[in-house]
Amino acid sequence: MQSKTIDHEALKHYKPIDCKHFIDGVFVDSDSDRVIQNMNPATEEVIGSIAIGGESEVDRAVKAAKRALTGPWKDLSAFERSGMLRRIGDEILKRKEELAFIEATDTGKPYSLALEMDITRAAHNFYFFADYLTSMGTESYQQDQKALHYAIRRPVGVVGMINPWNLPLLLLTWKLAPCLAAGSTAVMKPSEWTPMTATLLAEICKEAGVPNGVVNLVHGFGADSAGEAITKHPEVDAVTFTGDTKTGTAIMKAAAPSLKKVSFELGGKNPNIIFADSDLDEVIDTTLKSSFLNQGQVCLAGSRIYVESTVYDTFLEKFVARTEELNVGNPFDPDADMGSLVSREHYEHVLGYIHLAKEEGGTIVTGGAELPSSVEKGCYVKPTIITGLSQTARCVQEEIFGPVVTVIPFETEDEVIEYANDTKYGLGTTIWTNDLRRAHRVAHQIEAGIIWVNTWYLRDLRTPFGGMKGSGVGREGGAHSFDFYSELSNVTIKL
Ligand code: NAD
Repeated sequence: MQSKTIDHEALKHYKPIDCKHFIDGVFVDSDSDRVIQNMNPATEEVIGSIAIGGESEVDRAVKAAKRALTGPWKDLSAFERSGMLRRIGDEILKRKEELAFIEATDTGKPYSLALEMDITRAAHNFYFFADYLTSMGTESYQQDQKALHYAIRRPVGVVGMINPWNLPLLLLTWKLAPCLAAGSTAVMKPSEWTPMTATLLAEICKEAGVPNGVVNLVHGFGADSAGEAITKHPEVDAVTFTGDTKTGTAIMKAAAPSLKKVSFELGGKNPNIIFADSDLDEVIDTTLKSSFLNQGQVCLAGSRIYVESTVYDTFLEKFVARTEELNVGNPFDPDADMGSLVSREHYEHVLGYIHLAKEEGGTIVTGGAELPSSVEKGCYVKPTIITGLSQTARCVQEEIFGPVVTVIPFETEDEVIEYANDTKYGLGTTIWTNDLRRAHRVAHQIEAGIIWVNTWYLRDLRTPFGGMKGSGVGREGGAHSFDFYSELSNVTIKL
């Protein structure tokens, strides 16, 4: 998928960083001085340290965020806040090679992917909400000659942001940009596996002039650690979480006693539905991405592929051939289409499912674990295609979150709609067809928050983003993000 040149000389200027907390505008160690080692999954070498925080660091961060709500931050006009967001975006782009180096080293993903997707889109998140903030209006209604109603918007307050490891900076900025646009303040917790770009983002916010206390960062684990402390803290007004569905349940329980507002972007097991009337070459180009982009560690990955039986053999033959052309290699190899999985623990999780597929009666048509010839160590898994599984197999029902897809034939439209909806998840779906009526008809019956027809991963940041069923609570994007990071009050004037 990638074919890039990488300026290795320029990258020699950058080094992995040690990750400290950022509280009230200052980088600090943990109260206990507790640190863990940060690993590069592509080489399995230690690359630095991560401070591990808990209740006391979270409490200080929340108090700083609360104080900041009534400080100079409150008095900034929408134009001034918008300018600040723009400066953060500019600074991200100015440092994009450094950020991409750090992201690729932390996650194992190809450097060129980090540069083009993660870092560029992170800057775009700030530009988008900078514009949105200065162009949005408010809701108002005239009720006959009796009354005029209008809504006013205020910051929701202190927002806890808990993040996963697959798109560390991209997903964090997707939360932080609208939070700042709405005038709220943040306590961020990145994944303990990928803490480095969040640490640089805190530095960037300070350089862009964000007042102390508005953006805070506490590193740590989830349960019994910094993550749980954020979700339980009585002065955190809202929690936005992206991660595993089971963690979402735990966070909802922890947030319930103080009735926090929550927004959850959770797991997915997304169907990729291929009707016989589609253009198979176009389908295969996109299906390679929806299956294996970011080593398949994308919540929206189309990991359940359903193919109409009349084109099943042709599709499979071409798809396998193209998959076998993908290069798995070191993230800094310009020819690498795919890098390493994020950690040894996650590698074992993914391989467990490949072994399970055989026990469930499946055939591994291509893929499995194999170290690329250019590396000596690392958590590499080849793009893997499994056939011969039934709809009820665990490998078809459960999120694997790696470069592993299942391919299943279907006979009729009704049958494939039933298959598509038959999981606990409801995040994304792709439908491939050149029949316009069928595209609409099927889209309206699919239980998913994001439905693509003849494409995948095409996003417009104004549109609602999120999942139904076990894939999430609430929607992000444009006005939806603004509503989450604000409180609305309605004012009624009697005429
Ligand atoms: P995870 O749920 O294990 O961890 C995510 C974050 O939650 C980490 O920062 C972790 O420390 C924290 N955490 C864990 N337990 C916690 C607890 N009890 N209280 C508070 N915080 C806690 O998820 P992950 O493995 O990092 O990420 C992979 C998952 O994320 C996949 O399921 C994937 O589908 C999902 N994801 C969803 C989207 C989306 O937009 N829907 C996007 C990316 C990833």
